[in-house]
Amino acid sequence: MKIIMLGAPGAGKGTQAKMIADKYSIPHISTGDIFRANIKEGTELGQKAKTYMDKGLLVPDELVVDLVVDRVQKDDCAKGYVLDGFPRTIPQAEALDAALAKLNDKVDYAINVEVPDENIIKRMSGRRACVACGATYHIVHIPTKVEGICDRCGAELILRDDDKPETVKKRLDVYHDQTQPLIDYYTNSGILKEVDGTVDMKDVFAAIIDILGE
Ligand code: ADP
Ligand code: ADP
Ligand code: ZN
Repeated sequence: MKIIMLGAPGAGKGTQAKMIADKYSIPHISTGDIFRANIKEGTELGQKAKTYMDKGLLVPDELVVDLVVDRVQKDDCAKGYVLDGFPRTIPQAEALDAALAKLNDKVDYAINVEVPDENIIKRMSGRRACVACGATYHIVHIPTKVEGICDRCGAELILRDDDKPETVKKRLDVYHDQTQPLIDYYTNSGILKEVDGTVDMKDVFAAIIDILGE
């Protein structure tokens, strides 16, 4: 089962992708997490990506496409995977389709998690992330047992630099401009599925299971 998560920044793609990965025992591949891990380790890729991420801009396609195309060919992806944060532009989607077609393979579902912009800004200021294990929480909606500490691994949580309101506004503009066209792209290829992302995370997940099957 090969799945793409679509949606605005903060729509809940990561939250749902992790639940999908657990339920169906497939890897969760988040390009944002890969970049943040590289930034933390100080790699060249991380240094390059950071200059774009801090401004709320997308990292150039050439820095992300090969990375994902390589990743989805690893052994653990044989049964499927859930891609979170990729593709984010039409060229990325075309590159993924072309690489998979060469392997006689294709994406099965593109799930669009719909949340209006008004809700997004409010959500993002409350997001707290664990850079150690990639878990995501919300100070009001999805709190941790101990404030500021990851339930899953015990590391300290951060407010991401790019979750400041000014940067979130920029990311939303970039989303509408460069990523939203993917909705038409996957509608045309016949694999787009929509879920309402404004409801409780458990109800969003139930709608996704309805699509993917038990
Ligand atoms: P969110 O889930 O909140 O939208 P992500 O963690 O997916 O954020 O991404 C954070 C940042 O990483 C993006 O704003 C962008 O700069 C960069 N990024 C992640 N994935 C991609 C991608 N596929 N193409 C270009 N840039 C990306
Ligand atoms: P994305 O990966 O699309 O950027 P996240 O999964 O990181 O989004 O979610 C953004 C923020 O909203 C996080 O703080 C997360 O805990 C919270 N969140 C996720 N799903 C819901 C939901 N259904 N209702 C309320 N808050 C949510
Ligand atoms: Zn953690």
